[in-house]
Amino acid sequence: CGVAAVYGNSEASNHVYLSLYAFQHRGQESAGIASCFPGERFTSHRGRGLVSEVFDEKKLSELKGSIAIGHNRYSTSGKAILENAQPFSIEYARGRLSLAHNGNLVNSHHLRRELEQKGAIFRTTNDSEVLLHLIAHNRHDTFIDVLKSVFSRVRGAYSIVMTDSERVYGMRDPLGIRPLILGELEEGLVLVSESCALDLMGASFVREVNPGELIVIDGKGYESIELLPVPGNTAHCIFEFIYFARPDSYQFGSYVHDVRKELGRTLAREDSTEADVVIPVPDSGIVPTLGYSQESGVPFEMGLIRNHYVGRTFIEPRQSIRHFGVKIKLNPVRSIIEGKRVIVIDDSIVRGTTSRKIIKMIRDCGAKEVHMRIAAPPTICPCFYGVDTPTRTELIAHNHTLDQIRTYITADTLQYLSHEGMFASAKGGKEMFCSACFDGDYPVPFDEHCHMQD
Ligand code: SF4
Ligand code: MG
Repeated sequence: CGVAAVYGNSEASNHVYLSLYAFQHRGQESAGIASCFPGERFTSHRGRGLVSEVFDEKKLSELKGSIAIGHNRYSTSGKAILENAQPFSIEYARGRLSLAHNGNLVNSHHLRRELEQKGAIFRTTNDSEVLLHLIAHNRHDTFIDVLKSVFSRVRGAYSIVMTDSERVYGMRDPLGIRPLILGELEEGLVLVSESCALDLMGASFVREVNPGELIVIDGKGYESIELLPVPGNTAHCIFEFIYFARPDSYQFGSYVHDVRKELGRTLAREDSTEADVVIPVPDSGIVPTLGYSQESGVPFEMGLIRNHYVGRTFIEPRQSIRHFGVKIKLNPVRSIIEGKRVIVIDDSIVRGTTSRKIIKMIRDCGAKEVHMRIAAPPTICPCFYGVDTPTRTELIAHNHTLDQIRTYITADTLQYLSHEGMFASAKGGKEMFCSACFDGDYPVPFDEHCHMQD
């Protein structure tokens, strides 16, 4: 998902809209914005689909006020229904609250059951609604103490923006699993999931919100509160660098582009395949392929053309649509491929179905050899922190050998990036990143059985 918040700007909802537009790739299932004038009630609009489908000029102009928060939803927890679209807005004993959450809580089932036993009624199947109930039920005096108490019970990944209609709050889990960036407009302050949104809004980058930190924004500026104790390590999602974030975003101390290119360079250093051309699977394969080409000297060509009017196929949760998606999305360029020894680079193989189809397309164009290279290690485990990977058994690398995968996708050779190569490219070690989908070392423990029932 993607979240954004603006405080103190007469065009708050327009800026949030632009942010959601900038990180549309973080979630295409639904979008929503809630806005208000300080101390007044929220106006909100949420809908299914892309930001451009959910909002039009009229809807946006109705979202008045100098405070706004927004959300792009990517289904990882709860069903793909409108009720699950965020921001969630409530009125309760303490006043008002609107909240948008990126990430996934791993103990929400347990917390939810406990709340239901106390009489709480849930309107959605979403893990983020649990947060609202915990906040509303909490008896501490100050809102900061409420948050401290609530978030000390919550486990998992969360980058959250909230408003009580007076202030805007931004916070990150103690391991900093998902990104959250603080920026500054000429008029007002902003919080966004990805820094590429700052560029579009014309905001300047202030800094990343720290793990375990709460940022409180009001008319005087922003205040930093150490909300939760942090361990010595972090668990930034390394898959953000590999696939999820936009290359023009800065997060976890690096430009995504630089890391992604280095992943390709490292992949080339670990490889010695002779080929006539190296081509990316667009879009996620482009930057690593550039790095691979520069390091290896194999010429880079855009051998596959992507139709940009189709969303990322992966984000569409239904398997039947995925299959259709690959064909309408990509088409090879015959003059680049015919008679050539081709290296094709992608960021990951999940089920293997896309890769298999891509290789078939390349062969049908007359390639002499097709060598598949992946700019990450094999995806062997599902993510429980906010990326929608399929179940363990659907992950081809979970229960197949390298050679079995190669045979399935019909490549002449197949090679992945090493784990060491991945960490070296991201300029950090295991103590800095979550890499659980590549090695099964989950930084936040959870009950997988509970979780799978979603
Ligand atoms: Fe990211 Fe993978 Fe960890 Fe999920 S399991 S947070 S996708 S590195
Ligand atoms: Mg891709």
